[in-house]
Amino acid sequence: MFIMGHLKIGAIKRIIYGVINLSPEICMKIRAARRDAGLSQSVLAAEVGCKQSALSMFEQGDGTKLGDEIVEKIAQKFGIVLGKEEEDLPTTPRGVSRRRPGTAFCPNPECPGNSMYKVGDLKYYRPDRAAQDPAGGKFCAICGEVLETRCPACGAEIHEGGVCTFCGKPYVSAIEE
Ligand SMILES: [Zn+2]
Ligand SMILES: [Zn+2]
Repeated sequence: MFIMGHLKIGAIKRIIYGVINLSPEICMKIRAARRDAGLSQSVLAAEVGCKQSALSMFEQGDGTKLGDEIVEKIAQKFGIVLGKEEEDLPTTPRGVSRRRPGTAFCPNPECPGNSMYKVGDLKYYRPDRAAQDPAGGKFCAICGEVLETRCPACGAEIHEGGVCTFCGKPYVSAIEE
């Protein structure tokens, strides 16, 4: 299945060269499996060798954001069969860490804890860290996403606002419209 709304130059190229495409359902399934495993986007991205921002957009349903090799690695890790329906994976119990509250952010652009703001034509999200991370846990208290504790782009400590002051990258990556 292919969603026309997400059709971009990259997507067209992939069709021409006959590379497998991924449905938004598979993208969501991968996201659910990662969350159930308690892995943040940046941890999984580092493990399979892609950017956190690309993984974030992929998980929002744009199957063109990751190369097939990366997708296959992730699918294999979580026991997801690509292109087929299969049973839900068993969920692992969710642990609680001893991290200081409010020192992590939720990378999900659809989380109500991320308020959108615009600079020119560019969309950014400002995480409400106190609301997302009131107890220093591993998961967003609002939407359940696995929290990020560092800037996914450069690894610097996170701070107020929507953009890392060390590398200039936004904390929350969303598919551009
Ligand atoms: Zn959230
Ligand atoms: Zn940074």
